[in-house]
Amino acid sequence: MRRKLVAGNWKMNGNLAGNAALLEGIKSGLDNPRCDVAVCVPYPYLAQCQSASTGSFVALGAQDLSAQESGAYTGEVSATMLREFGCHYVIVGHSERRTYHGESDELVARKTVRAIESGLVPIVCVGETLAEREAGQTDAVVRRQMDAVLAKLDAAGLVKIVIAYEPVWAIGTGKTATPEMAQEVHAAIRARLAAVDRDAAAKVPILYGGSMKPDNAKELLAMADIDGGLIGGASLKAADFLAIVKAA
Ligand code: PEP
Repeated sequence: MRRKLVAGNWKMNGNLAGNAALLEGIKSGLDNPRCDVAVCVPYPYLAQCQSASTGSFVALGAQDLSAQESGAYTGEVSATMLREFGCHYVIVGHSERRTYHGESDELVARKTVRAIESGLVPIVCVGETLAEREAGQTDAVVRRQMDAVLAKLDAAGLVKIVIAYEPVWAIGTGKTATPEMAQEVHAAIRARLAAVDRDAAAKVPILYGGSMKPDNAKELLAMADIDGGLIGGASLKAADFLAIVKAA
């Protein structure tokens, strides 16, 4: 059985005092959890969260990385830098990056490869907008986003990634995909992975993200191909985040 992963995405939220309290609250509620737990924090707080999470059950992640290794790329942060600050995970291709920063499928794929090469576990986000779902394009969109990444990976690379299915219309809106809707897309993602390598496909965790909360987590996480959650809003309250971890 795949071990579940619950990863918080703090987005552009937090401050030194608030982060300390949030991490303390999360850590004190985790007693040998039966799933993996991570928080993906803003860059300036990596050092703080590295020292606060070291030796705990909470792994550290970042929310983006550069596709470049180093050099004249003002404002960018490299995979090596993230590793130096104790990051294990990095979110890649979040819909907010794709929408507000124009990140293409190709760039997301290159970032995915850069993360793997540097020993980070990329959480690769895919998902359709509301217009795309209503136009019956969900499968095609998710497949296009997946294929750009898969074109750059062999089976050995495939087992080093996590995928997050995040329907854009469900992120931060309070609207959640029903467990059945989510499972349908997760199964399609698993099938696409299996077409590359069957054994690897069985190992890749596929998270659901999009208004996952304590009151809907259990049903979503009970689905066969939902291996955890990428949690935005609910990761900013220790009690809510812990309730989702418990459901996983
Ligand atoms: C996210 O940030 O990836 C996310 C799923 O946000 P929320 O849980 O707030 O919808």
